[in-house]
Amino acid sequence: MLPSKVQQLVQLLARLPGVGDKTAQRFALFLAASEMDTARALGDALHAMADGIGSCARCGHIAEVSGPDTPPCCDICGDNKRDSTRLCVVARIQDLLSIERSNAFRGHYFVLGRLLSPLEGVGAEELPVDALKLRIDGADPPVTEVLIATPPSVDGEATALLIAQELAPLDVQVSRLASGVPHGGDLEFADPITISRAIAGRRGMD
Ligand SMILES: [Zn+2]
Repeated sequence: MLPSKVQQLVQLLARLPGVGDKTAQRFALFLAASEMDTARALGDALHAMADGIGSCARCGHIAEVSGPDTPPCCDICGDNKRDSTRLCVVARIQDLLSIERSNAFRGHYFVLGRLLSPLEGVGAEELPVDALKLRIDGADPPVTEVLIATPPSVDGEATALLIAQELAPLDVQVSRLASGVPHGGDLEFADPITISRAIAGRRGMD
């Protein structure tokens, strides 16, 4: 009932998180029926992003790619005014952005990309724990504090415990966000004041 080019767009949009078939169809019809300029601009922006954005080689945050031989480096890792002795471990880029909005942390980050999840079959070997240890081992100046800011859910707590155990032999102080973010809650939706309180009240894990 729709031209195949529009159907293809519907199928692609439906792959986005939180977008079901009906919403995808609504977006595609909006663009195809009345917003061709927006559709072209969106296409250009997607192209530019796909070619010019990668994963920061140091922390896993989104970063601009500056050349084929230069590993991507994000603005946070490239900011030498930040406190390099402190490293905050987060599950997702959204969590990094929430902590940034709180202005309560001025160190560097490490993005895990996922949480330990026995129910979903995600085991310890699928977490980038070795990369995290390498990041800490090779740091100059040395990292002295690692703040684990995984969410206060069952998976988030299990991940925090695993990381604390793995980092125990290293010469770093390991701490965990204080409670305040509701249990099972998501850092992404916590307000900046709650996050800054949770950072200020962080507790040691070693
Ligand atoms: Zn980075």
